[in-house]
Amino acid sequence: MAATQGWHSAQGRAFGGPLKYIQRAGEIGRLADHLTPLGSKAFLLVDGFVFEKLGASILASLEGSGLGLTMEKFNGECCREEIDRVTALVAEAKADMVVGIGGGKTADTAKLAAIANKARIAIVPTIASTDAPTSAIAVTYTPQGVFKESFMLPRNPDVVVVDSALIAKAPVRFLVAGIGDALSTWFEARSNLESRSDNFIAGGYPAPLAGIAIAKTCHEVLMRDALAAKLAVEKGALTPAVENIIEANTLLSGLGFENCAVSAAHGIHDGLTVLEESHGFFHGEKVAFGVLCLLMLEGRPLAEIEETARFCRSLGLPTTLADLRLGKASAADIERVAKAALKEGSITWRVAVPLSVEIVRDAIIALDAFTSSLFGAERQAH
Ligand SMILES: [Zn+2]
Repeated sequence: MAATQGWHSAQGRAFGGPLKYIQRAGEIGRLADHLTPLGSKAFLLVDGFVFEKLGASILASLEGSGLGLTMEKFNGECCREEIDRVTALVAEAKADMVVGIGGGKTADTAKLAAIANKARIAIVPTIASTDAPTSAIAVTYTPQGVFKESFMLPRNPDVVVVDSALIAKAPVRFLVAGIGDALSTWFEARSNLESRSDNFIAGGYPAPLAGIAIAKTCHEVLMRDALAAKLAVEKGALTPAVENIIEANTLLSGLGFENCAVSAAHGIHDGLTVLEESHGFFHGEKVAFGVLCLLMLEGRPLAEIEETARFCRSLGLPTTLADLRLGKASAADIERVAKAALKEGSITWRVAVPLSVEIVRDAIIALDAFTSSLFGAERQAH
């Protein structure tokens, strides 16, 4: 770190985040307390599954709050068509706040529709699978789920309300995917510190010490509590480790990536979306594999790559191409991934090593060879 700190003095620094973050078991039942300070007309955009299961009880809990309420089901993809549809509905409802209830794509669509309508933003993540809820970044996809572009919005969510009991009851794969996304936070922060790249705050500034400290803490919490949290959630148990991992996946990772920026773990994730087989995997699962590729691309010591790969494997996160159902991918397929990961303006360019399609392709192939030999050998030994 010492080598990278001097440049900040000339360039300044900037920190950003949501105005409030609230995490407690049962908090979804207290939504009215958190929404009424924001305005008078709420537009609730609710993930389809949550809509069926919790829609009625959410509405019931808000009755008597004095808020005007409109509830709409999210169509499942944060794509241009859906963003335009929701934006028009928010305008029609004359809502002064948009409340996104669900996963990362619901959150991002809610943020975009709110900003377009100059409305306040509340995010209620019902799973801890990404760090989307806290940030002012929104990522859009094609209707088929291929990464399209990401936007830096002028404002972060006003409030993020996390019901940890609800999250602990969701399938454990969501929490594990969130750990994969959060795993990228410190490694990508380190990439950006080394390449002296700007963060995502107010158009881009050097990372503040607060952001760097949060990214490091995110990593420490994952290493300490991730496995205990996964095992607890598998049994439907809510423990301090689970609370810590929910905070790491949502708040620490969200603040960490926004204030320190992302790099090739997300760049390779974006590249992987060009291969159809990858669409069945969650963002954080592909990002975890992207983390391992990033470490190989940066030429990190094999001991660090092995430690990180073992961490991923202990949780069931993908560590090989075969784990992503890409075991039969050809070198040409991986080259397409590398090409997409390096398209103009891509975050992959933030990595402080020489970059080309061939270099990224070979990092992915070499990482896969390393983890395959690591775990393949173990399989044979048993
Ligand atoms: Zn992410």
